[in-house]
Amino acid sequence: MATNRTFTMIKPDAVQNGHAGKILDQMTEAGFKVIALKYMQLEETTAGNFYGVHRERPFFNDLVTFMTSGPIYAAILEKENAVADFRTLIGATNPAEAAEGTIRQRFAKSIDANAVHGSDSDENADIEGNFFFSQFERF
Ligand code: ATP
Ligand code: MG
Repeated sequence: MATNRTFTMIKPDAVQNGHAGKILDQMTEAGFKVIALKYMQLEETTAGNFYGVHRERPFFNDLVTFMTSGPIYAAILEKENAVADFRTLIGATNPAEAAEGTIRQRFAKSIDANAVHGSDSDENADIEGNFFFSQFERF
């Protein structure tokens, strides 16, 4: 069943560079409502499981090292057509290819340090949200 929620992380590069507030602002200005929000640092196992689908890829170890390198914001966001609209808002994985005005075009420096995560399907949005948040942490 289609849902109207997606899951996001503001990644360590964006937090480190002081962009988290502006990025959250761009998300809410685009119509996404914050349902759950957490400021935390990922452990190696957590980051590895989160990106487990990429375990065999050559960039996997660098990805885990990067995602555990500093604190992140994790959030569940709600909006009509949330998953697709949020992927449009953040732009292409490689910021060099991200459309003008997208979050990655504005705030990301490279394909590995690309500022934000956005779920790629309703199913994964559900799995990822449940990975980080209990029912008592959603409003
Ligand atoms: P995310 O899942 O973080 O929202 P995405 O869905 O746009 O990003 P994925 O294909 O799921 O892209 O890749 C997950 C992450 O792995 C990317 O955000 C990026 O940081 C890293 N990554 C992907 N492809 C490469 C690559 N070719 N070289 C280095 N890092 C990569
Ligand atoms: Mg992805």
